[in-house]
Amino acid sequence: MKNIAEVVIIGGGIQGISLAYHLARRGLTDVCLVEMKDLGSGSSGRSAAIIGHAFPTENCLPLIELSFAALMRFQDELDADPGYEPIGCLLLAGAQGAPDPSTGSGHCLRRRHALLQSRGIDSHLVDRETISRLTPGLNLEGIEVGLYGPRDGMVDPHSIMMAYAHHARRLGVEFAEGVKATGLQIEGDRVVGVHTTAGFIATPRVVNAAGFRAREVGAWAGMDLPITNLKRHIFVTGPIPTYSRSIPFTYEVEVAWYMRREGPGLLIGMGAVESDEEDPQVDWSFLDVVAEHSMHRAPALAEAEIKNGWAGLRPITPDDDPILGEASHLRGFFNDCGWGGHGIMHAPAAGMVLAELIVDGTTDRGNLTDVDISRFRAERFEGWLSGCC
Ligand SMILES: Cc1cc2nc3c(=O)[nH]c(=O)nc-3n(C[C@H](O)[C@H](O)[C@H](O)COP(=O)(O)OP(=O)(O)OC[C@H]3O[C@@H](n4cnc5c(N)ncnc54)[C@H](O)[C@@H]3O)c2cc1C
Repeated sequence: MKNIAEVVIIGGGIQGISLAYHLARRGLTDVCLVEMKDLGSGSSGRSAAIIGHAFPTENCLPLIELSFAALMRFQDELDADPGYEPIGCLLLAGAQGAPDPSTGSGHCLRRRHALLQSRGIDSHLVDRETISRLTPGLNLEGIEVGLYGPRDGMVDPHSIMMAYAHHARRLGVEFAEGVKATGLQIEGDRVVGVHTTAGFIATPRVVNAAGFRAREVGAWAGMDLPITNLKRHIFVTGPIPTYSRSIPFTYEVEVAWYMRREGPGLLIGMGAVESDEEDPQVDWSFLDVVAEHSMHRAPALAEAEIKNGWAGLRPITPDDDPILGEASHLRGFFNDCGWGGHGIMHAPAAGMVLAELIVDGTTDRGNLTDVDISRFRAERFEGWLSGCC
C-alpha cells in the first residue's frame, strides 16, 4: 500500500468508490481508498437497490436528477450495465398522506407530488383503483392516496460499484482492502495523514466515507456527527402467483414497509431499530413482525415461503440529509456520509460533486450550479464540534 497520496478515502462502499472514480476521471489519480473488509461489504451490499424521486428530501432532489442523468450515460461512459430497471415506485399513504417530518402533519404525498411536478419530474397522484391496478392483491384498508413515479426503479449496486472501481483502478487509484483506518494525523488546523492497520499514509486530504462507522471517523477530526444507525431487515420469498408479473416498488410510508419483485419471488423490507453491529445479522424473531404486517397489507403473502434474509444499517441524520463537504475547522478533512436509506441512489451524483469540490475547491463551476452542497455541511447541526482534538 502507498505511504503517500493526494487523497485518502476511508470506506469502500458505493459512496467512497464513486468518489474514487470521479476524482480519477477529473485527473486526480493519486488516491488511496482503504476498506477494512471487502468493497461493498457494508450497507451498499445490503440495500433494496431502489432509485426514486419521491424519497430524497427537497434539498437532495437536484442530486437525484444528476444521479439519473449519470445512470442514463453509464453504459457509454463505463462500458457496463448499471442494471437500471424502471419498474416504477408506488408510495401509499393514509388520509393525511402521512405526516411530514418538517411540519408534523399534513399531506406529504400531495406536497411531494406538487414539488416533483414543479421540477418537471414525471409524477402521478393515484387513487385506490389505480393503486390496485398497479400492485394487485393489496388490502387498501387505511390507504387513501398513492404517489407513482414511472421512471423510478431498481439498479444493480454491485455492478455500479465494480464498474466505478474497475475504471478508477485503471486510472491509477489504489484500493487497499482489508485495511482499517485507525486515526488521523493532524497538524494545527490541517489533516496531514491517516494511520491504518497497514501503516501510515501521508496525505493532505482525507474523506470520511465510512458509512455506519462515520461517526467514529468524524470523532478523530473532533466532530460530533449526529448519525444514528438504524437496522433494516429484508426477506426474500419464493414465487407467489398473485405477483408473478412485474409490480412497482410498493412502499407504505406510515410504517416504512415495502415490497418489490426479486427473481421469481418478492423482496420485503421493514425495520428501524438502532444498532451499531459491524456485521448486522438477521434477527429471525423480527420475521413475525414483518409477516404480520405483510399478510395484512398483501394477503397473498400468507402463501409465501421465506427463502432468504439479510439485514443492514442505514446511517441517518436528524434532517435526513447527508453530511457532505469540508470541515470548516480542519482543512483537508471531508465528510461524505450520513446517507441514511438513500445512499445508493445518490452515489453517482455525490461522487461527482464532491470530486468537483476537492479538485476545484468549489462546485460553482461546471454544470453543477443547481446543486448547492454547502447546505449539507456538518456545521448545520448544533453541537457538531466535539472539541476533542
Ligand atoms: C436494508 C437496506 C435497504 C436499503 N435500500 C436502499 C435503497 O433502496 N436505495 C438507496 O439508495 N439506499 C438504500 N439503502 C441505504 C444505502 O445502502 C446506504 O445509504 C449506502 O449503502 C451508504 O453507502 P456508504 O458507501 O456511505 O456506506 P457503506 O456501504 O456502509 O460503506 C462504508 C464502508 O466503510 C468501511 N469502513 C468503516 N470504517 C472503516 C475504517 N475505519 N477503515 C476502513 N474502512 C472502514 C466499511 O467496512 C464499509 O464497507 C438501504 C440500506 C439498507 C440497510
